[in-house]
Amino acid sequence: MNKDQAIHNLDSVIARVEEARLKLSHHHIVKIIGISKYSTANDIKTLYEAGQRAFGENKVQDLKQKSQELEELPLEWHFVGRVQSNKINNLIDLNPTLVQSLDSLELALELQKKLEAKNKTLSCLLQINSAYEESKTGVMPEVAIQTYKEIQTNCPNIKLKGVMSIGAHVEDSSVIKKSFETTKKIFDELQPLGAIYCSMGMSGDFELAISCGSNMIRVGSTLFK
Ligand SMILES: *Cc1c(COP(=O)(O)O)cnc(C)c1O
Repeated sequence: MNKDQAIHNLDSVIARVEEARLKLSHHHIVKIIGISKYSTANDIKTLYEAGQRAFGENKVQDLKQKSQELEELPLEWHFVGRVQSNKINNLIDLNPTLVQSLDSLELALELQKKLEAKNKTLSCLLQINSAYEESKTGVMPEVAIQTYKEIQTNCPNIKLKGVMSIGAHVEDSSVIKKSFETTKKIFDELQPLGAIYCSMGMSGDFELAISCGSNMIRVGSTLFK
């Protein structure tokens, strides 16, 4: 990806986000996370030079490699992948800005133990399986609020900042919309408990997600093409 391409990609995502968010409100701010999992550190640097600051990876090893290679840049790193037990220590040591894929109370309790031992805190989003898809991780919508509260009570070193969902993996946009609305409703109930991020929307569905109230989108292929 050359610089012109990066500027073009970023400009067009920003323009589309602007249009979608302004339909909701001038005060509805949407944060764009560039998901760089299929891209090189060089491409990330090019996108940084075009103005993008926040990036996300879905493998701890890739997060480590790319964040260390780009250490001199003031980037923000998000983790959006499945957290394997044997990688928890590595993930914590990388000091990610936000782990978006906290997907069970069990994982939270494991994280808590290791955070406590290291005397560290970690900001996370609770991943919700609003599409009810077996291929996806995340807590079921029916238990999301209860789980959120249990994590807050039992895991003082985890700073919960909201929720994350992946839209339903179907063509029918009304089904995708329904999954986003499910997450947004839970987010609204959690705002009094301190939830500030409702992360939903990817390259194929971020405008729909924003129309449903998303304030954080995770865009990979459209940004890094
Ligand atoms: C890969 C990935 C994305 C980005 O997907 P694109 O369709 O390439 O925009 C967003 N969120 C998660 C959790 C991902 O794994």
